[in-house]
This record gives sequence, structure tokens and C-alpha cells, in this order.
Amino acid sequence: MSTSSVALSGVEQSAGLRSAIRRQLFIGGRFVDAGDGATLTCVNPHDNSPIVDVAMAGKADVDKAVAAAQAAFPAWSRLAASERGRILLRVADRIEANLEELARLEALDTGHPLRDARALDVPRTAMTFRYFGGMADKLEGSVVPVDVGFLNYLLREPLGVVGQVVPWNFPVMFTSWKLGPALAAGNCVVMKPAEITPLTSLKIAELMAEAGVPDGVVNMVPGLGAVAGQYIAEHPGIGKIAFTGSTATGRRIVQASAGNLKKVQLELGGKGANIVFDDADLSAAINGSAYAIFHNQGQACIAGSRLILHERIADEFLERFTRLARSIRLGNPLDADTEMGPLTSAQHRDRVLGYVSIAREEGGQVVLGGKPPDNAALSRGFYIEPTVVRARSYRDRIAQEEVFGPFVTVLTFSSDEEALRIANGTEYGLGGGLWTRDVARAHRFAREMHSGTIWINTYKRVHAASPFGGFGLSGYGRDMGFEAMHEYTQVKSVWINVDAATPPWYRR
Ligand code: NAD
Repeated sequence: MSTSSVALSGVEQSAGLRSAIRRQLFIGGRFVDAGDGATLTCVNPHDNSPIVDVAMAGKADVDKAVAAAQAAFPAWSRLAASERGRILLRVADRIEANLEELARLEALDTGHPLRDARALDVPRTAMTFRYFGGMADKLEGSVVPVDVGFLNYLLREPLGVVGQVVPWNFPVMFTSWKLGPALAAGNCVVMKPAEITPLTSLKIAELMAEAGVPDGVVNMVPGLGAVAGQYIAEHPGIGKIAFTGSTATGRRIVQASAGNLKKVQLELGGKGANIVFDDADLSAAINGSAYAIFHNQGQACIAGSRLILHERIADEFLERFTRLARSIRLGNPLDADTEMGPLTSAQHRDRVLGYVSIAREEGGQVVLGGKPPDNAALSRGFYIEPTVVRARSYRDRIAQEEVFGPFVTVLTFSSDEEALRIANGTEYGLGGGLWTRDVARAHRFAREMHSGTIWINTYKRVHAASPFGGFGLSGYGRDMGFEAMHEYTQVKSVWINVDAATPPWYRR
């Protein structure tokens, strides 16, 4: 394992970002402390050092945020759609102007390698706000051909105040995936970032205010899931909740939303099938499959976490794949050379290591990794080596449950039918893909695989214009693309009697 690190401690590194760090809730256009003064310490996953204490919202703070959003809604929803769009375009510009600061903040708070935050996370965040800025005035109603003499038209109206609860794995990007369509469609938002990674979300709130988003339109309330998150899901003043996170929490949200029958959108876990056929371009498949699982330390709902290999190429593939995985540079995320950082929290690192024990108990073979790296410079951080495990069966826990770490489960097959059975053999269905030169097979699998996204001869590509979401236990509803605008609107059907010759119902 090659590793790298820089000499600065986490505290010193965060000092370089002091001016970018916001430590308060953002409600009604102002940064404020939590009503009860509660805070939580953000920790640098590279060395477990404290970065800053950030305010944690309680129920009273969520109430204030909802009230601010309700007050802002009439003016925001009646603003010309093109003007809402223009403001979102300015948000994208502000994000690009602050790219380096945002990328460093994300790397510090989450453990994302800086090179990924610079090249992917922050540019994609700007791109997504820009896409929805352009979308704001493209949302049209329609005219329905009903009975002669009547005009029936459909309006797409915003929902009002929307709650958005997101996880810690891609915090900056999720601000744009969630806020972009909600705001473009004319809603106001109360967003809760994950308690352990609030820093870039708070910075985005500040940039949005600078870009001209009116007070109260966006409120950012970091807080504990069981307190602020649960209360947002229950809140009678909120008309919809959009959630990204685990399937277990998604179920709780559905239950909590029942009080006022909120509209619910769920982007949940995954166990991505990544199938490599014996006719594939192996070099491309090996590189793409490593990216599919090891990018962001495997902390991705769409990670290619089940590597399903044709038995004819399995040994050669695994030999070359593990050689590549062994060469991935682990190190301090703020070092520009680092290719893989630490996991985002100690608790999550321990959970992932727990799956190494489960693998051994199930008779799996740990081919690579399965432990923290032997490097004193990384010993205080939450690092795990790239881990490759051969499972005995696709029904094993390591082939069924989401590990959400740099942990790939390897399975083999001998026929197309078997590959499809394995690929569809979990209750998840978020992202999956295949590597083959056979065009007919590629299309057949695209049709047959039970998954919201399919990649062919690539993996883990996302784009603001392409709808994203799951089948089965991976949730329902779609982020991004035109679909997302529909998620944040409700249809109103308007009937007008133009010149209908209808007889009176009651002849008197
Ligand atoms: P999590 O469900 O524990 O937490 C996600 C968010 O929900 C956090 O903000 C948390 O504070 C909040 N939360 C926790 N309990 C809550 C409750 N009772 N009510 C309301 N909110 C509550 O998930 P996590 O461990 O932070 O994130 C990892 C999970 O997210 C993985 O399962 C991953 O697959 C999933 N994920 C899905 C997508 C997708 O688009 N489908 C994207 C990224 C991550």
C-alpha cells in the first residue's frame, strides 16, 4: 500500500479555512445559535482532531426554520420563474468562485480526497444549480382534450415548505441535488445536513444569500437525526420530505410523515452489481471497477460493491484488480496526491471492519486489505485499506447488505442467466452495470436488471440532467433531470366552461 501524508495536524489545517467555517444554524437569512445552545464537535477524519463546534438544532429551532420558510413562500413562489432561475445561476457562479475553499472544507470535514472534491464534487454542485437555474422557466402546464365546450388545463404548483434530510457521504453535492429542483419549482426549504458533516452545507447557505436567495427561502439546520431529522419528518407545517440515507431511516421517515400525509421521496441504500463478461475490455473494466468501489472510500450508495466476474476471466481479473487496488495512494485527504482518504467517522470505520469479521465467519476469503494501513502517519485517522473479499454465495450477508466502505464482494458466474440471477438477487436496486462488447447482451441486461441506473462499459456516472433514484429497497422518487421538477410540484386541474351546451342538472 503506498501512502502519503502532510505534516500539518487537523487543527492547523482547519485554521487555514477559518474564514470559510460557519458554526451556526442558518434561519431566516441569519446565522444563529441553537435556542438551547447545543453544539456538536466536527472531527477531522484524518487524525480525529476537533475542527469546530457547530450548533445543533432542536425542535424549537426547526419550528423557527419552518416559520421562516412559510413566511418566505408567497413571494418566492410568485416570483417570475425566470427570476428564480437567474438567482440559481448566480448561486452556481458563487460556488465556482469559491471552488477551492469549498473543496478543502469538504476534504477536511468528510475525508474526500481533495482531488475528487476539486474535480467532481464542487464542479458538479455548481453544474446542478446551473441546470436547475435553467430549468426554472421550462416547467410548463398543459391543456387536456376533455369534453367539447370545456377548457381543462393543468398547473404545476410548488408544494410549499419542503424538508430535506441528507447523509454525510456527499454533503456539498447533495445541497444542489435537493435544493436545485425544490427552489426552481418555487418551494422554500428546511434542510438538515448530517450532524457530522455540516460545514460545506452551511457555506453553501452563505453563498446562496450572497447570490440573492431571499431570507427564509433556504434554512439550514444541522442537528441530530433522531431529534431535528425526526421532527422535520413529523412537522405539520412541512408538505414534503426528501430524504437521502439508509433504508432503515427511510422507513422511520415514512412512518413519521404519516401525521399530515407528507409527500415522501426516498433515495436509500444500494448494493451495486458490477458484472464483467469474458468478452470485456479487461483493462477498462479493471480500472472502472476499482473506481466503482474505491472512489470516496466506497461510501457511495451507487458503489459497485458486488463484483460479478465470468469464471473464465476471474483469476486474471482479480490478480490485476488487486494489484491496482494495492497501488491506490492512501493519505491525508488534503494532500493533492491522495487517491483514497479515511472513512468519515470512527463509528463507520468500525462498522466496515465488522463486515470483515462477518466475511470470515461466512467462509469468505479476504484477498486484500481488511484492516487499517500499517502507517504511523495515518494511525489516528479512520483509514481502511482497499478490501477485496471472495464470497461463497450471493446469498451471504457480505453479498446482500450494504457495507458502504472500501470493501468489494467478489462473486463468479458461468452463464448470462446466472449473472442476471446474482445481479438481481438483492432487495436493493439503485445502480448497476456491466462490461461487455456484445451489444445485444448489453441492451438485454439494461432491460432485465432491477436497478434505477444501468452503466454499460462505464460506472458511477451521474449528471444533473439524468434522473437518479432507486427500485425496491433503494427507495422511490427521482433526484435530478426533469423528473425532479415533478417531484417538487403538485398538479392542479382547472376546468372552464367555455361554451358547453350542458342541460341544467335540475329542471325547474
Ligand atoms: P442515515 O440514514 O443514518 O442518516 C441520513 C440522514 O438522516 C442524516 O442527516 C441523519 O441525521 C438523518 N436521520 C437519522 N435518523 C433520522 C430519523 N429518525 N428521522 C429523520 N432523519 C434521521 O444514513 P447515513 O449512514 O448517514 O448515510 C449512509 C446511507 O445513505 C447509506 O445507506 C447510503 O446508501 C445512503 N445513501 C443513499 C443515496 C441515494 O441517493 N440513494 C445517496 C447517498 C447515500
